[in-house]
Amino acid sequence: MRLRHKPWAKDKLAAHPEWVLTQATEKKGLWKQVFGNDHPLHIEVGMGKGQFVMGMAKRYPEINFVGIEVQESVIVMGLEKLLEDPLPNVRLIHTNGEDLDSLFEENEVDQVYLNFSDPWPKKKHAKRRLTHENFLRRYERVLKADGQLQLKTDNRGLFEYSLVSFSHYGALLDEVSLDLHELNDPDNVQTEYEERFSQMGHPIYRARLHFKRED
Ligand code: SAH
Repeated sequence: MRLRHKPWAKDKLAAHPEWVLTQATEKKGLWKQVFGNDHPLHIEVGMGKGQFVMGMAKRYPEINFVGIEVQESVIVMGLEKLLEDPLPNVRLIHTNGEDLDSLFEENEVDQVYLNFSDPWPKKKHAKRRLTHENFLRRYERVLKADGQLQLKTDNRGLFEYSLVSFSHYGALLDEVSLDLHELNDPDNVQTEYEERFSQMGHPIYRARLHFKRED
């Protein structure tokens, strides 16, 4: 997602630590305290403007959601939505998904979402893909034993790459859909990109997987 640089975004983010956590690494292992309850914790890496996390948070008030986004000018749009429509079960973090280890304790997270992640089509950029094994290692570490990773994308190249990456990593696929919207899943909350690309006629792919074998 590319948006025009917003010179005011930095100050606006800093002015609202109640929504966009400034010392987020201090919350590692303490997310129950942040939300004041022991509800499950779901995170989205690359949340964009936040339509998905906020839609999910409204639908599931008994789940806590943390949206992570690396671009200042994008996450600030999420902040503006929260200022207009406050949701007690949402927090945002302005950082790179590479930092998951310093934000969440092992087994602290119940679900990780990746929605319409940047495909980085050039092979030399493969390490930047959010489904590269370096990222899978981070998700596995923070996820609970029965936690799931869910990927949605319209990008066939990224989807094909991701399935191979999951397989090489030894992850276990729970579901693969090559046309999510055909399923008419009433639980599917659409992201901004999902709305845009499905209107353009692109099929939406979805994979769900987990990392740990039940013994
Ligand atoms: N999830 C949203 C946005 C998709 S665009 C939707 O589905 O509508 C992908 C977003 O991921 C962009 O906003 C980009 O800035 C963000 N992103 C890419 N790499 C990231 C990383 N390593 N850490 C955090 N955010 C990242």
